[in-house]
Amino acid sequence: MNILQIESFSVSNGTTLAVDNINFNVKEGDLLGILGPNGAGKTTLFRAILGLQKYQGKMNLFGHGKEFHSELVPLIGYVPQKFNLESNFPATVFDIISMGKISEKKLGSAMSLLKKSNQKYYKSIEVSNNDDKVHEVLKIVGLESLRDRRIGELSGGEQQRTLIAKAIVNEPPLLILDEPVTGIDVEVQKKFYDLLKNINEEKKITIVWASHDLSAISNLANKVACMNKKLFFHGQNDEFFSNEDLLKTYTESAMHIHSHNHM
Ligand code: ADP
Repeated sequence: MNILQIESFSVSNGTTLAVDNINFNVKEGDLLGILGPNGAGKTTLFRAILGLQKYQGKMNLFGHGKEFHSELVPLIGYVPQKFNLESNFPATVFDIISMGKISEKKLGSAMSLLKKSNQKYYKSIEVSNNDDKVHEVLKIVGLESLRDRRIGELSGGEQQRTLIAKAIVNEPPLLILDEPVTGIDVEVQKKFYDLLKNINEEKKITIVWASHDLSAISNLANKVACMNKKLFFHGQNDEFFSNEDLLKTYTESAMHIHSHNHM
């Protein structure tokens, strides 16, 4: 079953065409890795899917078109790439995660839309008025001991895990992650990858994940999409990683953009 389907999809940032006429779909249970150099339009694509930017083309989310988009967006968990906060920002890990809980009213209207489109995976979602869910996700991301710490006092990796916990506290059917590329050390990165796999397999959450880490995508994702404004590949993991030409094209375009940015 398709969770997300986009067709002839284009998004502009001012005068820059950032996403150029792309098509792809995400099926229930997928862990789709999105590869693309800096400036390839990944964040812009995500923002349009989340209803934060205008787009041209078609989008079907959880079996519904544009008219119900805003009611269904709360069912997407999102972890943005950029997360700037003051070190004295007055919220604890627990507070931040609690902010991810959506209201009963919003959940109710989203659920009735899902019933209409026969999306079955919805039973597990529930709003709880107590803090059990928050404690459960604190455990999943391994931050129980830091629950009362201020978010600004945490390391980059711990902040990233807090944001993942916030994004999954409702057990959303779809999680979109714009992976931060800086400030995360290798050990923490490894934990993060294990966490992604776990969320996908145990919690049955479908994941769309932008990353620059080819080997991590090769190890974790079942599907791969490769974009640089246009989509130049979308398919099974092994189809991408066994194709030398595709890999070469990706590596060269990534290197080109990176070196260009550093000039
Ligand atoms: P990625 O996430 O793949 O690094 P982005 O979606 O951030 O790519 O950027 C795509 C293109 O849109 C780039 O050319 C970038 O410079 C441009 N862009 C991004 N954000 C803005 C903005 N707020 N205003 C104007 N142009 C932007």
